[in-house]
Amino acid sequence: MVVAIDGPAGAGKSSIAERCSAELGFTYLNSGAIYRAVTWKALELGVQDAPDERIVEIAQSLQLQYQGGKLLVDGEPRGDQLHTDRVDRHVARHSAIPAVREMVNRRLRQIADGVNVMVEGRDITTVVFPNADVKIYLDASVETRARRRWEQQRAQASENGGREDDTPTLEQIAERIRERDEADRKKAAGSLKQAADAVYLDTSLLTIDEVCERVIATIRNTRQYQELQS
Ligand code: C5P
Repeated sequence: MVVAIDGPAGAGKSSIAERCSAELGFTYLNSGAIYRAVTWKALELGVQDAPDERIVEIAQSLQLQYQGGKLLVDGEPRGDQLHTDRVDRHVARHSAIPAVREMVNRRLRQIADGVNVMVEGRDITTVVFPNADVKIYLDASVETRARRRWEQQRAQASENGGREDDTPTLEQIAERIRERDEADRKKAAGSLKQAADAVYLDTSLLTIDEVCERVIATIRNTRQYQELQS
């Protein structure tokens, strides 16, 4: 069974998909993490501004594995390294390259083959799994999304022994979210759109628990899920 979740940056897709997939015993796939891995590698090699062909080569040479539901990039769980400001700044361009998207989509379909997955991203309900059993579009206001990222980055900075004041300001984060939304919507391939048959959920005023409850109720109500249980 495939549960597909789309929505803009900071709408809560990762937190929701991680938690709901654990509750249902589904494999959690985060397509954004794979695009981030490509950009992380390009930055490591100092070729983030190289022409598209070079970025495609990097995407093809990247070693990606899912182990126990965790993504390993070149053999390691890169975690925080994929969520830096530098990655944020370059990932929209790299993920707009059609050959990079084809590589990522192929990998996602391979991993999902024959298993129960909850997969999230920008074009999962429209392009990657247009026949998903359940489609959900998570949304939230720019202000809410910026505040969530800001709190996350400050918490990360203090956990890593850094200074909270060295992280970007709330307004800078909001501006980057607006830019990323714009870039994600304008992509020639794989742009962010709401599928006509997706359930729309605005998470601005909801807690993670409340969103999860609604997502899980939607899934449990489907014939496909009920058949899995019988
Ligand atoms: O979801 P997350 O913010 O981690 O994704 C990082 C970036 O990867 C997005 O801003 C978007 O540019 C790109 N992306 C994409 N298609 C997806 C998932 C992510 O283009 N399915």
